[in-house]
Amino acid sequence: MNQNSFATSLSCIDGRVQLPMISWIKDRYSVDFVDTITAPGIDKVIFDGDVESIKKSIMISISNHKSSHVVISGHFGCAGNPVSDEDHFTHIKKSVEIISSWNLDADVVGVWLDEKFIPHLV
Ligand SMILES: [Zn+2]
Repeated sequence: MNQNSFATSLSCIDGRVQLPMISWIKDRYSVDFVDTITAPGIDKVIFDGDVESIKKSIMISISNHKSSHVVISGHFGCAGNPVSDEDHFTHIKKSVEIISSWNLDADVVGVWLDEKFIPHLV
């Protein structure tokens, strides 16, 4: 039987965000692995409602890996979503709302990565 635990990270494609997010999620939720779903400026992609393929990916993570937590992040200096920090916070919060509305069997939170790529709960 597979005892490995999983969480799910929804993040930008930006190579600066992956490792900080994986570490933060593993520490916070004590999971063995972090499934990672990426899109450029993913907070804006979800905010805009362009969610079909992202939703499909999340469902696989939750159904097949029993992921317990979904973390949607946005970050400083995002080329895929070049807006102010404040707009990112709006996009991240709305993304959490949208994903929460799907009533998945997992906790959904939003995270902001600052200019040092340190994650903060939004
Ligand atoms: Zn980005």
